[in-house]
Amino acid sequence: MKYKKVHVALVVFALVVVAAVLSFAARSSRGQSATPKAGSLVKPAILKVNRTNVSSAEASSPFAAAATRNAVLRDELRWAFGGKEQRGWYLYDSLINETLKLQSDGEAGDFGGALASWQKKIGLTGDDVLDQDSLMALVSNWQSRRLKNHSDANPDELVTAPASDFYDPSRPAELRQAERNTYAAYKQMLAAAIADPTLNLAHTSDGELAPTEKYFKIVSAFRSPEYQNQLRRQSPNAGSAGLAVHSPHTTGRALDLYVGGDPVNTKDSNRAIQVNTPAYRWLVRNAERFGFRPYFYEPWHWEYVR
Ligand SMILES: [Zn+2]
Repeated sequence: MKYKKVHVALVVFALVVVAAVLSFAARSSRGQSATPKAGSLVKPAILKVNRTNVSSAEASSPFAAAATRNAVLRDELRWAFGGKEQRGWYLYDSLINETLKLQSDGEAGDFGGALASWQKKIGLTGDDVLDQDSLMALVSNWQSRRLKNHSDANPDELVTAPASDFYDPSRPAELRQAERNTYAAYKQMLAAAIADPTLNLAHTSDGELAPTEKYFKIVSAFRSPEYQNQLRRQSPNAGSAGLAVHSPHTTGRALDLYVGGDPVNTKDSNRAIQVNTPAYRWLVRNAERFGFRPYFYEPWHWEYVR
């Protein structure tokens, strides 16, 4: 009698496992177009049945396939920007995570689902794979949020910031100007950064950055159209981005801030240093609150859009 009970229990358990496996297989075989919602429903159910089965089940799931693909594309995806071939999207991890509304960087488990939701929201397939179409959609999203009005600043809209705010404190006064509200917003943002113990910024007792501190200092702010032209003549091959004819710097609302490495150098190896500094990551998460938005390609360049 006792054996019979155990036997029945075993048969029932076996049936439950078979049903779970069949149901999972059915969902997986619908395959590549499976919605992330279905995926997120499947995962916890399987986890409760048997933990050791999960890894083998997941290894063949669309989620794992997408994760494997993303790991390759992150370093290898070929695309073009600013007339230059680009490789991978690893330099934009923080921006991508912020756009996908992940809580923290590098949570691989959440990435697929968050990406698929975002892809669907903007009308892409929602296949969890950050391919060229998805990257281009992210880039257009970032670019569309930048400063729209590129009218040159009027002199009465500009204030001259103290030399101590600048990465190079020997910068002459005419190169230390910024649009009034932009500068005020920068100072508010700076106060928040100084107050954040995780950044550990060296500062004075009255809440200014210490002379020895480099992070968050202004590298460049307002550039007059004449000065911008002069820069372009000096380095005609500097590329389109920094020395554009209609640079947002002539508005006084664009600030280049020190975020590490060589201050304003677009080499991938330099940007790889910059995008991994606490200062840059902090800006990606917090600058929006103060009205600043990034230029994705230049980690140091922030535009005041309010
Ligand atoms: Zn800039």
